[in-house]
Amino acid sequence: MVRRHSPSTARARDQWGTVADVISVRNIVKAFGGMRAVDDCSFDIADGTITGLIGPNGAGKSTLFGIIAGFEPPDSGHIYLGDEDITALPPHRRFHRGLLRTFQTPRGFENMTVLESLMMVPAHQTGESLAGAWFRWGRVKAEERRIREKAEDVLEFLQLTHLRDTLAGRLSGGQKKLVELGRTMMTDARVVLLDEPGAGVNRTLLARLAEDIKRLNLERGYTFCIIEHDMDLIAHLCHPVVCMAQGRVLAEGSMAEIRADERVLDAYLGGDPSQAGTSADETREAAP
Ligand code: ADP
Ligand code: MG
Repeated sequence: MVRRHSPSTARARDQWGTVADVISVRNIVKAFGGMRAVDDCSFDIADGTITGLIGPNGAGKSTLFGIIAGFEPPDSGHIYLGDEDITALPPHRRFHRGLLRTFQTPRGFENMTVLESLMMVPAHQTGESLAGAWFRWGRVKAEERRIREKAEDVLEFLQLTHLRDTLAGRLSGGQKKLVELGRTMMTDARVVLLDEPGAGVNRTLLARLAEDIKRLNLERGYTFCIIEHDMDLIAHLCHPVVCMAQGRVLAEGSMAEIRADERVLDAYLGGDPSQAGTSADETREAAP
């Protein structure tokens, strides 16, 4: 990984001439009222990694994700995607470059089957209305067939084929997370930001979700950045791990290095970071 802290420095390239880091966060500042939620934050999400983003509640992690995905403008600082400064690009333009934050299931999807909800993604994410997309699809059968085949492939990859005709609104929290990951796969995503994928997901489905993330990374080349309180999940999936506190990067390295870092321990109010996620267990749904 190449470190670069000045936006004006030329991007370092590897021997193949490709840019080593997919996302570079540079000196991002975002204040709400007088409070700096993100305070001169810089780090990289390197191509091909599953990068973990941890830190106590209120550290600024979700705010930073919103800025990386383009939903919030920063007060200052820059976001690069490869070579390109994307700080001013709206979310849909970033989406078309393969960068996305996982969507909450949008309104209207609850009454669709799982298959239909996947098939809606390509059109919906380009900003079309649902009605417009259906209308167009009525006329463009070949495109519909292609999208259907892709959705079937996604269901098979995620071992969700048995839920194909189930209404999305009837899925458990964990199943919804798997379908959310599937919705990501309907796009040409390269870099996916996952904000607390483990929240409210039971242990069994969490293990499935983790394996699917790993397979998408290994087999399909997705780069991930994952915010998560479950330190076991982070330790299992992520390298490197970036720890934020009070809007800044406090430490980055392997999970073992992060766990041994006293500043990290202090940031978690003197607690053991391996315990930082235990409250997540209390909010998990009961195992089926
Ligand atoms: P994290 O995801 O690390 O828990 P957040 O990014 O959600 O942290 O929040 C960082 C800080 O910014 C918190 O103090 C939070 O209350 C504040 N904050 C986040 N979003 C807003 C907002 N839209 N308006 C005001 N304050 C906000
Ligand atoms: Mg958050």
